[in-house]
Amino acid sequence: MNQADLESFIKELGLEKFRAKQIYEWIYKKSVRDFSEMTNLSQKVRDQIAAKANIGSLKLVTRETSSDGTEKFLFETADGEKLESVLMFIENDDYDEEDDFYDTPAGRYSACISSQVGCAVACPFCATGTLGLKKNLSSSEIIEQILFMQNLSNQRIGNIVYMGQGEPFNNYDAVLESIRKTQADIGIGARRITVSTSGVIPKINAFAKEDLQITLALSLHDPTNEGRDFLVPINRKWPVFEVIDALKSYVDKTNRRVTIEYVLLNDVNDSVEKAKILGHLIKDLHCNINLIPYNQTNTNDPFTRSSSKNIADFSRVLRQFCKGKTVTVRKERGHDINAACGQLANSVS
Ligand code: SAH
Ligand code: SF4
Repeated sequence: MNQADLESFIKELGLEKFRAKQIYEWIYKKSVRDFSEMTNLSQKVRDQIAAKANIGSLKLVTRETSSDGTEKFLFETADGEKLESVLMFIENDDYDEEDDFYDTPAGRYSACISSQVGCAVACPFCATGTLGLKKNLSSSEIIEQILFMQNLSNQRIGNIVYMGQGEPFNNYDAVLESIRKTQADIGIGARRITVSTSGVIPKINAFAKEDLQITLALSLHDPTNEGRDFLVPINRKWPVFEVIDALKSYVDKTNRRVTIEYVLLNDVNDSVEKAKILGHLIKDLHCNINLIPYNQTNTNDPFTRSSSKNIADFSRVLRQFCKGKTVTVRKERGHDINAACGQLANSVS
């Protein structure tokens, strides 16, 4: 419910209109999850509302903390499915976007949230992909992850990445609504929200028309159709050149620089030759590149993380081809609790 929804709900209960605003503030600004904590409401009013409503529907199953401070939360939906969300602290040094600004001198909390339980895209290096698709999350279940983590950690979250489980654009309507609510109700600015997609072209095109200032990231992972057909199987439907063209139109429409994500798999997609093809492919695309050294999963997949030499060579060559673009290597977080990119598979480590 947004504030208007709350107002009609409050009206039905025969309560004063300003109660809606109070409740709205408790839920969205203070991340309270229990009516009993709403101290500016009388006990009678709290009881009356609690008899009719719940705040959220997720249950916390486990909470794990990594040695680097990253936290992973396993939640259960009302229909018994499990999903994971990750909360990490990103130091200011790790931000390099020109239009970025900071909450605190040190950095800010960033939440990685899930849009589906499991995922149908089945990238062979991703633990979520092995689950298959179990369920689309509702927009409430998506934003509740943010509010629940703020509640549990007592921290204000300043940055959202749709990089948990699921392909956001295979759950387009709920994801779009959740983005709007994250902006309007939770108060996180568009420029601090990133959606990562494996390349669902019709939805990239639709998203371009939504007039949002969020960052769009594409999981590219190989610059050739041959390689990408294997690593990101959705490529068989929406091939590399078409997806890059869709991103170019996205940039034209939104004026936003996109991000290219590229997982580095040892001796699979990390050759200097591939770096050159990649550099050529994205030459005219207004983008930054984020290289993600592969994180080992529990799935017995055949991949290993690129050697330091391969990572260094690949990024050096790519940088030569990408003047004016930033090439960063993603810092690993939460590996020891299986919270790093690609490790989310609803298991407790
Ligand atoms: N489903 C979306 C968002 C998810 S994940 C997508 O694929 O874009 C965020 C990034 O982590 C994606 O680029 C994804 O390909 C990558 N990733 C998946 N498994 C990984 C692994 N084992 N190690 C490193 N990165 C991985
Ligand atoms: Fe799905 Fe993304 Fe994992 Fe591929 S990498 S299986 S699209 S969650």
